[in-house]
Amino acid sequence: MRAFVYNSQPSRVVFRVGGLDELGAEIERLGAHRALVLCTPEQRASAEDVSKRLGERSAGVYDKAAMHVPLETAEAARVVAMALNADCCVAIGGGSTIGLGKAIALTSDLPILAIPTTFAGSEMTPIYGITADGQKKTGRDPRVQPKTVIYDPLLTMTLPAEIAGPSGMNAIAHCVEALYAQDANPITSLMAEAGIHALASSLPVVVAQPDNLEARAEALYGAWLAGACLGNVGMAIHHKLCHTLGGSYNLPHAQTHTVILPHAVQYNLDAAPVAMARISGALDGVEAAAGLYDLARKIGAPLALRDIGMKAESLDDAARRATQNPYYNPRPIEYAAIRQLLQNAWEGARPG
Ligand code: NAD
Repeated sequence: MRAFVYNSQPSRVVFRVGGLDELGAEIERLGAHRALVLCTPEQRASAEDVSKRLGERSAGVYDKAAMHVPLETAEAARVVAMALNADCCVAIGGGSTIGLGKAIALTSDLPILAIPTTFAGSEMTPIYGITADGQKKTGRDPRVQPKTVIYDPLLTMTLPAEIAGPSGMNAIAHCVEALYAQDANPITSLMAEAGIHALASSLPVVVAQPDNLEARAEALYGAWLAGACLGNVGMAIHHKLCHTLGGSYNLPHAQTHTVILPHAVQYNLDAAPVAMARISGALDGVEAAAGLYDLARKIGAPLALRDIGMKAESLDDAARRATQNPYYNPRPIEYAAIRQLLQNAWEGARPG
């Protein structure tokens, strides 16, 4: 008989084409009167549009969001939020922008309304990350969980194929590891399977037909499921490796997930047979590790660590870092095997 604990994360999700039109009503629902709109410099125009829609309820736009939330950026944003007397943050963008909202919420309790425009999934989690002195520290805190999330597939139409593809693989990675998580539960596993299927079937279309709104909506739906998985259960070797590679060697986030995922799955193949069968089923029956590799290749995403900035001479150090602190994984973490995994990922070898 199975036993499990299931904790759902308390957030309100509005999902529809044109969902941004709900912004006014959703801000009112939160009881916010002065929302600070957050974005990256590249997404300033989208943030201005959001600010305009908010009208009197906008406290202004802050456009300094950056990858991995540098501490100085977080502190500067907190000062601006306080100075403008903001009572809410509206984060429009990917994981970096939503991460900045979380950094503000962490010290101020300001509620976040998130409007994700990538498939990274941060909007559905109580996980935050802040980088100081080259080290990214992450943690969980219910205060940083966005209160409301508006998913509008129209906002992903501008996402270029080279960002959309890896971002979608990043989301698939959340689903994959949810299926063999230590605290896996039936609900999250259902979401994980559905998420893999939605993303794996839509991403090739997103990349091949950038104007296909239906495919973008399906990918965003998968991203919602994936984010919910990440928020609800713990992750394992794949996320640990990506965290190590991103944090210590400054590799790009989504691309690193894309390259590592098939190899992490291969590593756990025999240790998590039930999860692997479900991943394979969600990929329409192809073998899990090779199937994910072939999907990445099909969408033109990177396949090798050497192609995304990893130096061969850093692989020993990376394997050491990734095996340093014991953590849960279906297969025990062993230095030699992890070193081999990294070698295969560096070369871009097809698993299996
Ligand atoms: P990102 O937020 O860094 O965005 C990448 C680039 O794409 C940026 O320049 C951004 O402005 C641009 N962009 C975003 N949406 C766009 C759109 N629709 N059209 C055109 N350009 C667009 O990338 P990401 O992969 O979404 O997020 C990565 C970060 O999020 C990492 O720091 C990662 O650690 C974090 N993350 C956190 C969690 C969590 O739960 N805390 C989950 C996933 C990712």
